[in-house]
Parts: sequence; structure tokens; C-alpha cells
Amino acid sequence: MVTVAEVWFWPQREGEGLAAAAASLAHTMGARTVAVVFGPQQQVQWAADEVLYWPYIGLESGTAIAAGLAHLVKERRPSALLLPASPLGSEVGARVAAHIGASFVGPCLRLDHSGKGRILALRPAFGCRASCWLEVWGEGPVVVTLSLESLRSRRLSGSPGRVTEIRDEVLPVAPRGRMVGIYALKPEDMDVGEADVVVAGGRGMGGKDGFQLLWELASYLGGTVGATRPAVDAGWAPKERQIGSSGRIISPKLYLACGISGASQHLVGMRGAQEVIAINTDPGAPIFSLATLGLLGDARQVLQAVLERLSLMARPQGSSPPFLPPSTWPGKVMVCLSAGPDPESLVGYEKGEGVPFVLGPADASALALALKVKGTDKYLWAVAVGGEEMEGPLRLALALGAQGALLVGTPAGEMDVLATAYLLAQTAQELRPDLVLCGDRSLQGGTGAVGWQLAHILSWPCVAHVVDASLSDGALWTIAWAEGGRRVLIESSLPAVLMAREGAVSLPYPSVRKQIKARAQPIIRKVPSGPGHGSRGLKVSSLGPPKPMRLGFYQVEESPWPWQRVAALLGGGRPSSGLVTGDPETLAFHLLEFLTSRGLLAPPKK
Ligand SMILES: Cc1cc2nc3c(=O)[nH]c(=O)nc-3n(C[C@H](O)[C@H](O)[C@H](O)COP(=O)(O)OP(=O)(O)OC[C@H]3O[C@@H](n4cnc5c(N)ncnc54)[C@H](O)[C@@H]3O)c2cc1C
Repeated sequence: MVTVAEVWFWPQREGEGLAAAAASLAHTMGARTVAVVFGPQQQVQWAADEVLYWPYIGLESGTAIAAGLAHLVKERRPSALLLPASPLGSEVGARVAAHIGASFVGPCLRLDHSGKGRILALRPAFGCRASCWLEVWGEGPVVVTLSLESLRSRRLSGSPGRVTEIRDEVLPVAPRGRMVGIYALKPEDMDVGEADVVVAGGRGMGGKDGFQLLWELASYLGGTVGATRPAVDAGWAPKERQIGSSGRIISPKLYLACGISGASQHLVGMRGAQEVIAINTDPGAPIFSLATLGLLGDARQVLQAVLERLSLMARPQGSSPPFLPPSTWPGKVMVCLSAGPDPESLVGYEKGEGVPFVLGPADASALALALKVKGTDKYLWAVAVGGEEMEGPLRLALALGAQGALLVGTPAGEMDVLATAYLLAQTAQELRPDLVLCGDRSLQGGTGAVGWQLAHILSWPCVAHVVDASLSDGALWTIAWAEGGRRVLIESSLPAVLMAREGAVSLPYPSVRKQIKARAQPIIRKVPSGPGHGSRGLKVSSLGPPKPMRLGFYQVEESPWPWQRVAALLGGGRPSSGLVTGDPETLAFHLLEFLTSRGLLAPPKK
């Protein structure tokens, strides 16, 4: 047990951002900072008072890392453990919290300290329409994930005060699925919201043949194609690829805007991109104000010159998404549903009044997948934890074919994810399903932790971001989303927990007759017995309208981006110079150099 308060971080991603966040929280608390590093030959040079280095722990799975972190946290009881809100960081954070019975908060935008010994965490609420401060109270560590976005804007580099090597035994871990294959999708199979690289075109691309150049470049970069509204209206790109206020809102790592003016309705959809390259013939085009690299020229000619050079390189072969046949095995399925305040109708949300509760989009995917996996006439139970507001999703499940619905009551105002996970685990032990499905994250809490914690408590394998699933011969096959718009095929033993990805499967609409019938069906209500298993508490200390979430974080002197981008993000002016000019060959050279510097293309052979 440490006597001086400590703030720990696990620098899996955006390590310098985490070091900065830990240092700033530690400063307000008078605490020291500790980085925890796992695996052989890992970097230990982190700006922290101490680095705990455990070289002999397996890095291959979240369960192993969570077991290692929980082991150390239990021993030294830091005040907080900070992790990146990456897919792996979110899993590890949720599992560590379940291991040690700690509060889990995430994904957070900022941390602070109340001055009364309590940690404050700012996190988005109501599907990012608002933000709220959560106050962590009670004894023991809190596990926090921080959004990658917020971590990118503040960095702290340096060397540790000291490095302590841990030589403890490797710990036993829970079962997990076996990865059968990983598929890099072709640009046309990749969702524009998932891609790391979006090559987008506007009216300036001149037609479908101009868009063909975008598709070709996207295939070299492992990305996909986006479009402005006029390009979609002209039939050059499908509607689901439209970026902007009446299309998709995306935040890829790189957005390449070709022949796009940068109207405000378009910028709304892509200003979350980490870096922007713009190619335009008009030096006054507003898109240049966001560009890390601005090329003044004819986009078609520049892209043709780029593709000519790239034609000497092997083009990466994308694959079609794997296909799963319908289930052939009569599994028992339990689906966990929850309702949250409808982000689209936040009238009177300050008092929490007048806001209808709806099924969250990830939970809707879970229900649709559950219906698919169970097939016809098989066993499906819909379960919700909460108050009467959960009745709607349960009745919907009954109308769509669930055999039973169970509502597990909680005290009013319950906010604890771990308590929810325990109640669901208890229910799973009673219902004995082969498969439990839930959404990646609920609309209500939105932590994305319940599925991981449920699997952890039950010691079952768990797959997150699931887009398809099938049961055959007692085995479970799932296709899950992976970063960079890829798909992973995983085989797991049963029983298992699956966390469905938002928008992966659409939910059918029940007929009016079925809805009326479902209204008459009973919902079994259960009051949890025995002592609660929650963690230390959380309470909402203030709930406000949307804060300028991104802008609040940028500090010009600390930004990793050029001043033009910072100025644009702060709502300021446009670059007065800095556009690259020249013939298409010269512009193509600059573009290729930029793409190579970002690791998107192999460097040319000398
Ligand atoms: C209610 C509403 C909702 C809207 N929603 C959206 C939305 O969701 N998404 C969206 O995109 N728009 C939306 N719009 C439309 C938006 O206002 C703009 O009209 C649109 O974004 C402009 O698209 P563009 O950049 O392709 O075309 P333009 O504004 O016409 O720009 C074309 C650009 O291409 C450049 N150019 C021309 N030839 C070349 C060349 N050979 N090489 C390089 N550059 C060249 C030009 O200099 C110009 O900058 C909406 C509008 C309204 C009113």
C-alpha cells in the first residue's frame, strides 16, 4: 500500500498524452505519477516519477494485461489508473475494474480534482449531445479511460525518476476466442465511418471517371471514398458516402479532399479528421484552412500523376468480408437490453424531464443478432437492469420473437456499471444460456464496460464490436470490426458473451398485431437479493449543454499540428501562404512524400 497518493497510467496508445493527463491530475492532488509497462523490450522512457516494468507478461490478450494490472493495483492501491480509450484500453480498463471492484469511468475528455479529495471526470453524455462531470467518491482506485482525441492534444515526454522491474509469476487468464483470420476490406466494402483514410471528392472531380481515380488511390492507402452532396446528387458516389451535416460525420486519421470547396455543411462532417490534405484550383477555397498540406492545382491531373507512380508498386489486395451461414445449432440466447434518453429529443434534459427513453443503437444490433442467431422457435430471453423505462425495449423484444422478458430492478439513480454487470451475470447463471449478447455501449452510461465485466465475472470468452455471428456444431463463429476498417473472424467456445457493434445489423420492425400481443405478455420482475456487488460510487455533479469538446483541448504551443490547423480549429483565420504550387508532377511528388511520411505508402527503393 502506498502512503503518497499515486496516479498510474498504461501507455498502450498516446502514451505522451496519458503522461500529460496523469501529471496534470497528480499535480492537483499532490500525487506522484507511475507508468506501468508490460512485455519484453518495451519502451520505459516515460515522463513519470516511476516506471513499473513487467517484462514477462504476455501482451497477446486484454485478459493477460488486465490480470497483470489488477495484480499491481491491488498491491499498491493508486488513486487512479488512466488508460487510453482504444479498443484494447477499454477492454483492459473494464476488466481491471471488475477484478478489483473499482469504479470505471470512460471515455473521458478531461480530469480534475474537486479539492475535497475527489476526482472529477468530464465525459460526453446523451450520445455526445451534452457533457457531464462525474464525481468519484468513496475509497479505493478509480479506473479511467481517456478519449484518444483528448490525449492527442497534450503531450509530455521525458525520462522516469526510476524504473522498477517486476518479476512476479505470470498470472492465469480467462478463456478467449481463437482468431481464425483477419481481412483488410476492399474500399467499396469499407464503411466510410470506419476507415482510417478517406479519399473524398467533390464537384471539382468532374464526373464518375474522376471518382474512379479516388477509388484507385483509396485501394493503395487501405482507405475508402467519401463525397460531397453535389457529387452524390450527380450520382458519382452512393448516398451512404456523403460527408456533412446531412450525411455522415467522420473522424478518420487522414482526409484527402479533392475538388471540394469546404462549405460549412461539408466541414461539419469531416473536421474531426486528424489531418487533412486538400487539392483545389482555387487558392481561396475554405477547405485549405483545415489542411495540413494544401496543393493548388487540378485534382484529376495530380491524382493521375500519383497513380502513374504508384502503378510501379504492388497494389494491396483487399478482400471481401467473410460470410457466415445461418445458425444450424439450437443455442439458448440471452440478450441484455437497455434504454437511454433519446439524444434526438433532449427537450428539458436539464431536469431530466420530457425526454423519451429509447433502445440504444448498439443494443438494437444486439437484439437483431440475437434474433438471427437463435433462428426460429428457439430460446431467447430479453433481460434489462433498471427501472420501468426499460419496459419499452423488453416489449419490443417480445414483439420480435423473444420467449421471455425479465426486468431486474435497481435502486433509483443507480449508475454503477459493475453492479449492472453483476446482476446480469447472476441472471445468466440462472437462465443458463449458451450465448449472452449485449451492445458495445449503452445509450445510458455509454462506458462500453458492461459486456467485458460480465464476461470477466462469468469467466467466459468475450468478443466485442461484433457485426455477425452464427452457431454451428456447438461452436460460435463471429465476425468483428477491427480498427482500420478491417474484419476479424473468431471462433469461440460456448458459453460466451458477444458485444454487438452499433449499426451492424438492422432491427426488423414488428407488425402492429405482434406489438399488441407483446403488450399483453408478462414481464417478469425480479428484485436482486443479497449484498450488492457494485464498486465505489459515482455521482453526476453537473450536467450541461454540449461543451466545445474539441476546441477546449487545443493549446497552440503544445499542438502537434501546424498553426493553420490549430487556427482553423479555434475558429480563427486561414493560412495566408503555405499552399504548394507547381505542375501536376510536382504536386504529385509532394503528395506521395506526405503519404509516405505518414506510413501509408512504402518508401521508394533507392
Ligand atoms: C441544408 C443543407 C445541407 C447540406 N448538407 C451537405 C452535406 O451533408 N454534405 C455536403 O458536402 N454538402 C452539403 N450541403 C451543400 C453544401 O452547402 C455545398 O454546396 C457543398 O458541400 C459543395 O460541394 P463541393 O465542394 O463538391 O462543390 P463546390 O462548392 O461547387 O466546390 C467545388 C470545388 O472544386 C474546385 N475545383 C473545380 N475544378 C477543380 C479541379 N479540376 N481540381 C481541383 N479543384 C477543382 C473548385 O475550386 C471548388 O472549390 C448542404 C446544403 C444545405 C443547404
